[in-house]
Amino acid sequence: MCGIVGYLGKSSAANILINGLKRMEYRGYDSAGMAVLNDGIIKTTKKKGKVSELERLVDLSKENSTIGIAHTRWATHGFPNDINAHPHSDQANKITIVHNGIIENYTAIKKKLTLDGYQFKSETDTEVLAVFIGALYERFGDLEYAVRFALSEVDGTFGMLVLSADHPDMLIAARRGSPLLIGIGDDEFVAASDAAAVIQYTKQVIYLNDNEIAIITRDGYHTKTISNEDTISKIEQIEFDLEQIEKGGFEHFMLKEIFEQPETIQNAFRGRLLVDEGDVKLGGLRQIQEQLRSAERIIITACGTSWHAGLVGEYMIEHLANIPVEVEYASEFRYRNPVIKKNDIVLAISQSGETADTMAAVREAKQKGATVLGIVNVVGSSIARYTSAGVYTHAGPEIGVASTKAFTSQLTVLSLIAIMFGRMNTLSKYEGIKIAKELLNIPDKIKKIFESADKIQQIAKQHAKAKNFLYLGRGYNFPVALEGALKLKEISYIHAEGYPAAEMKHGPIALIDENMPVVFIATQDEIYEKIISNIEEVKARKGKIIAIATEGDTRIESVADNVIYIPETLPMLTPILSVIPFQLLAYYTALELDCDIDKPRNLAKSVTVE
Ligand code: GLU
Repeated sequence: MCGIVGYLGKSSAANILINGLKRMEYRGYDSAGMAVLNDGIIKTTKKKGKVSELERLVDLSKENSTIGIAHTRWATHGFPNDINAHPHSDQANKITIVHNGIIENYTAIKKKLTLDGYQFKSETDTEVLAVFIGALYERFGDLEYAVRFALSEVDGTFGMLVLSADHPDMLIAARRGSPLLIGIGDDEFVAASDAAAVIQYTKQVIYLNDNEIAIITRDGYHTKTISNEDTISKIEQIEFDLEQIEKGGFEHFMLKEIFEQPETIQNAFRGRLLVDEGDVKLGGLRQIQEQLRSAERIIITACGTSWHAGLVGEYMIEHLANIPVEVEYASEFRYRNPVIKKNDIVLAISQSGETADTMAAVREAKQKGATVLGIVNVVGSSIARYTSAGVYTHAGPEIGVASTKAFTSQLTVLSLIAIMFGRMNTLSKYEGIKIAKELLNIPDKIKKIFESADKIQQIAKQHAKAKNFLYLGRGYNFPVALEGALKLKEISYIHAEGYPAAEMKHGPIALIDENMPVVFIATQDEIYEKIISNIEEVKARKGKIIAIATEGDTRIESVADNVIYIPETLPMLTPILSVIPFQLLAYYTALELDCDIDKPRNLAKSVTVE
């Protein structure tokens, strides 16, 4: 959660820090702050609200410090206000830190420090860490030692940067469980929790590992473990360009990302389909073919939108490969005692590859001996590095907090994985060819759906004042109903529920009246007739019906108030199409309500805290 950025080099730090915060604002944005060092004095500026609020307080033309740290917060401990905003300083105001994560034992440390006479200004766990480091520095006079000592005493997670008034040429970076990378430029370093803050300055980076710290000076950097063993860090290359993290003429990142989907889906299957063999080639899984062949069960674990993708994956894999699949919320998986057997494959899905709960589930599964795979978007992220093998989704950076293109790329990769397991088990070559061929058509079919964007905007306007929405779908489209409801909740703050359509009778039907829009996915497949009956049931109770239907279906017009058509495809690939109108419906509804679409309240892009 949250973004941190630090700079040490020859340019004005403040400029680079503010710029970096803006690029990472999607990660957390309830307050922002910055500290720079000049003539032995740390100057801290922090403010509740967006980065633009902080920027207003800083006169960039007057800032000439060449070292500093900054933060955009997603509060875990203490309200989002000016005082709780980072950076946080020690008592002597000699050391200041920015921190991403949670110090779990902060209460105990705070108690001890309070007994020793230390005082605190904020309610945050982070300030306790800052004061703790300061106290150790006072005692030992060695900054690096103080940081390592403090970090070896704390429980929880951190990605952090330390700036010290006594060290105008040094930044210390450390991580455990929260991402941190260091960009290496010409005589300058940009450390950040996200490559987006670094890419403008350099594409050469090192990723810190858990329990690793980096001592960055004007001459270079040195990495070691918190317990003082030297480490070697490989310099890697960031794979995306600046323009990929800019809006490119769209009003919002979310809209840009929705419209990128024909391309991102293509990127997800490019070079991976063996159409003539009805099979796939997944380079990232090559070295574990034997384990995959002997898989007796697959457990998919994820959170939020990725969990919805996992549900679709369950249907796909069971259908094509006849292997039992279970889908688990990562947050639940990690805290119970899941039964994992030798021939189980655990598949973790995460856009950022940093989702704390999913990462913990991965650790738990690995500990229990499962083969753990990742479906991850961000190259080099923690989950990508920690899993035994995996498949990247290649959707490019997703900035909009409400996930869109990452979801359809996950579905695409899951369909490839389902074909792979299918061909290893029960799927015929003929069926494999059919699916592979149809996947190639999906990008054009999505473009076709975009032609309905204006119509979807009209429908959104018509229903934007509703207080509740119900989303209903069956089979492959049930998880899409969940995803549609989630999108609407996330960005328009309208209460929405997704249900399997037939479950409606077991409760939600009580909510239906003339004020309730009910969104159905009614594509023409083997359960079409059943869905039509469900629609009739809603209509009989005066609900307003919005239907997603297959092109050419004329019957649906007589029962639904609004119809959005999508092209016909194979049932297992329908979710990749049927979710598109839902993304647009949520987007235009939020636009109509004047909501902050790319930065919805209380949410953050990647949830790197529990
Ligand atoms: N736990 C810290 C706080 O509440 C850091 C939260 C974050 O990662 O933004 O201030």
